[in-house]
Amino acid sequence: MKIVPAISLIAFVATLTSFVIATNPVHIDGKIVVHAHDKRKCSFGIVVKGDDKVIGSSPVDSTGKFAVSFTPAKETSFDFFYIDSHHAEDTIYLKSYKEFESDHVELTFYTFKGYLQVDEDDHVICPKCSQSDKVTPIEKLPGYYYCASDRIKF
Ligand SMILES: [Zn+2]
Repeated sequence: MKIVPAISLIAFVATLTSFVIATNPVHIDGKIVVHAHDKRKCSFGIVVKGDDKVIGSSPVDSTGKFAVSFTPAKETSFDFFYIDSHHAEDTIYLKSYKEFESDHVELTFYTFKGYLQVDEDDHVICPKCSQSDKVTPIEKLPGYYYCASDRIKF
């Protein structure tokens, strides 16, 4: 009769361990440094997508700070976007992370457009896939680009 509790204890520990790994939430304390918006009153929001699906979002306060939590499952990429109230229909890509080193992360993003990279033929390079062949300028949003293979605006 001693064997029964031992087995159920092992089963319980195994269940508990896999439970913890699968649902450990990540807390992001972030800041977004916004370029050239000093004289404009607009509000920003942050959106996090895991493999193209929205898994978290947060408003950005007047000092640029935001906080967002989500629980990673088996996503291969976590993409951060921002939304500017002046063109709220556009979600602009910031950066991707493959994983997080801890469950409490501090991140700072910049919206400076000077960070765009171009290839040898002067075509703008997508910050996510590092390719230029699917990148086109967005007509309605001067200075911004669209990558058709990632379906992101940046
Ligand atoms: Zn791309």
